[in-house]
Amino acid sequence: MLAIDQLEVVYEGIIVALRGVTLRVPRGEIVALLGANGAGKTTTLKAAAGLLPAERGAITRGSIMLDDRDATYDAPRERVRRGVVQVLEGRRCFAQLTVEENLRAAGRDPRALERVYAYFPRLAEKRRLQAGYTSGGEQQMLAIGRALMTSPRLLLLDEPSMGLAPRIVASIFEIVAALNRDQGTTILLAEQNATLALKYAHHGYLLENGRVVASGSAAELRAREDVRSFYLGIDRHESRAV
Ligand code: ATP
Repeated sequence: MLAIDQLEVVYEGIIVALRGVTLRVPRGEIVALLGANGAGKTTTLKAAAGLLPAERGAITRGSIMLDDRDATYDAPRERVRRGVVQVLEGRRCFAQLTVEENLRAAGRDPRALERVYAYFPRLAEKRRLQAGYTSGGEQQMLAIGRALMTSPRLLLLDEPSMGLAPRIVASIFEIVAALNRDQGTTILLAEQNATLALKYAHHGYLLENGRVVASGSAAELRAREDVRSFYLGIDRHESRAV
């Protein structure tokens, strides 16, 4: 569904963030984009969503294909029309508006609203509460819920686990996996927490310094010694017990 080839991105005409990234996101799959802080995960998602110009970022080489059509320089609006929606890092929502007003501002389809509430019952419970008074986990749910209001085909999720307690993160990932399973939503998921992401993803790409340094099925990546020891925080010794 999404094919990125040899992508190079430069911010402010000088800071090279991606140095030839190639990746594939097959329809109906969850693909994890892994890597440390500054590796280029967010930049890859923003390139896919068309949000780089707003950040003074530019594609200097390479291409982005959506459903086999060139979308490298499409405006974000055009990509949303084609079903691509990004949930930005940091759970942005309108703090002054209620949960339901936030959802309605993102899309008007009442069936989509009911679907969001079915996946996130917590949002239904808090529908009349100002978003600014909800918990971090609820705000992350709301950010995903807002994206779902447009019934996306490709959801670009940026670090949904950031700053949340493990129990909340697990419930959010279970919902994301259910969305993928039941609705067939394709998901590109940027995550620093590789253990978590590879539990839910079908495939993964590991970024380092703007380059893909490893890729494969989630099982292959979990089994690779170098990936395990560095990114999953497991050394040879411990791995026997895992
Ligand atoms: P994080 O987890 O911190 O978001 P990341 O893997 O998503 O990390 P990016 O945010 O894509 O990494 O950053 C890749 C590189 O591009 C870094 O060197 C970063 O400093 C730089 N960068 C990102 N956004 C901008 C920007 N708006 N202007 C200038 N440089 C930027």
